[in-house]
Amino acid sequence: MKPIVKQRVEDKLYQNRYLVDSGRPHIKILNRLFPSSNLVALTQVCPAKCYQLNDRGQVTIVSDGCLECGTCRVLCEPEDEISWNHPRGGFGVLFKFG
Ligand code: SF4
Repeated sequence: MKPIVKQRVEDKLYQNRYLVDSGRPHIKILNRLFPSSNLVALTQVCPAKCYQLNDRGQVTIVSDGCLECGTCRVLCEPEDEISWNHPRGGFGVLFKFG
C-alpha cells in the first residue's frame, strides 16, 4: 500500500514557475484611492496573494505569481475596478504537475 503524502497548498504552489513580463502587468487596479469591499476581499481570496493592503488602506497588486484563476476578474471587472488581460504569449504561470 502506498503511503499517503500530505502536502500544504503553499508547497504545491511553489512547484509552479512564473515568467514575468517586466513592465507589462496583466492586471491593473483602476481605482486605488477608494477601494471597494470587493477589492479589499481580494486580499483574502486571491490564492496567490497578489493583492495586499498597504499601510494607507489602499489595495495594491503585484501580478507576478498570478495563477490566472480569474477570481479577481469575476469579482471586480464588471464594476470596472480592475483591468484584467491574459499575459502575453510565453509569459505568466507555468504549471508543474506532480
Ligand atoms: S487571477 Fe486569481 S491568482 Fe491571479 S490575481 Fe486574480 S485572484 Fe489572484
